[in-house]
Amino acid sequence: MAWECDIGGCGAVFEDAESAVVHQTTEHERRECKVCGTVVPDGYLAIRHTFTEHSRAEYVRAYGASSEDVRNREQLLEEIESVADTQTLADELDQ
Ligand SMILES: [Zn+2]
Ligand SMILES: [Zn+2]
Repeated sequence: MAWECDIGGCGAVFEDAESAVVHQTTEHERRECKVCGTVVPDGYLAIRHTFTEHSRAEYVRAYGASSEDVRNREQLLEEIESVADTQTLADELDQ
């Protein structure tokens, strides 16, 4: 399965989820979390931050998200975490 970066219509395609996340973290500008103001890498890590640090209700309020948005993001997180080696990912992002 190919992974496509969808930040701002980027469209870059990667063979694995780790490469896509590293790309999102290094090639794209970081964004401020609308809930707490922490600056986090865009893409997967921004989603993970929001969904692990904040409640769904806070996310919906801050981003004006629909329940479909929430479902889509939860699905994406599960998908990445089921295929990506999160330890490898952590090591690569640490460098
Ligand atoms: Zn990209
Ligand atoms: Zn936050």
